[in-house]
Amino acid sequence: MSSTLRAACVIGWPVEHSRSPLIHNYWLKQYGIAGAYRREAVPPEQFAAFIGSLAARGYVGANVTLPHKEAALALSQPDARALAVGAANTLWLDAGVLRSTNTDVEGFLDNLDACAPHWDRSPGRAVVLGAGGAARAVIYGLIARSLDQIVLINRTPGHAEDLRQKFGARVRIAPWEALNAALADAALLVNTTTLGMPRQPALPVDLARLPGDAVVADLVYVPVCTPLLAAAKARALRTADGLGMLLHQAVRGFALWFGTTPAVTAELRKVVEADLGPSAAKPTGLT
Ligand code: NAP
Repeated sequence: MSSTLRAACVIGWPVEHSRSPLIHNYWLKQYGIAGAYRREAVPPEQFAAFIGSLAARGYVGANVTLPHKEAALALSQPDARALAVGAANTLWLDAGVLRSTNTDVEGFLDNLDACAPHWDRSPGRAVVLGAGGAARAVIYGLIARSLDQIVLINRTPGHAEDLRQKFGARVRIAPWEALNAALADAALLVNTTTLGMPRQPALPVDLARLPGDAVVADLVYVPVCTPLLAAAKARALRTADGLGMLLHQAVRGFALWFGTTPAVTAELRKVVEADLGPSAAKPTGLT
């Protein structure tokens, strides 16, 4: 490897499914940067040694995907975002120190800003469905934007309670059965569950309950237009999709590793959509 070639990678187990190489290599070409971005399949028992030798392997940083995000947090110097989310997805070497962050937070917020400008100008109540890792990033982001009323709804109440304890009084829990009742007067609905993906049950949601100026965001990106987003569009509600979030969350890593802040463009979206394949475009039925 040339000493001037900056390289980064995505580390996962498995890692074949990751779209990060497609996104970062698109930007490297677009900006004429002599860099490289690779996939690294690393089993859990080898992860610590791998990231301990990132520099020796020629890497300036890395993305981290399943199942390594918690280990990446523990083995690096995390920022406040990664600590709040409880997982790191982006690593970089800073004068020999391995630092980490979680870019799902800004991916979610930047995508919302791009798709529904001023959504937070007069923030009302947000309803967040799901209480997994992605929900943590979303709730952290909503609180950072001063939304002080977040209704969290999850199939397993204990998981929602864990997040309420973590994030405090701004988060209120409602039962899964009260999902539709919670939509009245909501300004923002965010799906962070896996419902809407292929072979998953449909999300039991009736969007007729949402006010006409509400925004609907879905983190699921296969299909790109989920049944939830299709129903929101049919009601002429503003929407933000999971593919947009995926692209926006990649920006910070690229800037950290390669020194240029890349743009999320319609052309990049098309490239990734094409790679996701025709099934990614098709919504399956809503209840
Ligand atoms: P996770 O930690 O496994 O959480 C999954 C969530 O889905 C939990 O709240 C779980 O509820 C809920 N769920 C699963 N099956 C369900 C069912 N049959 N009925 C009701 N709820 C169900 O996953 P995650 O990391 O948070 O990811 C969630 C989704 O966000 C995935 O589709 C992922 O691809 C997507 N995501 C997208 C981006 C992006 O950039 N677009 C970034 C991160 C994540 P329980 O607590 O009851 O199990």
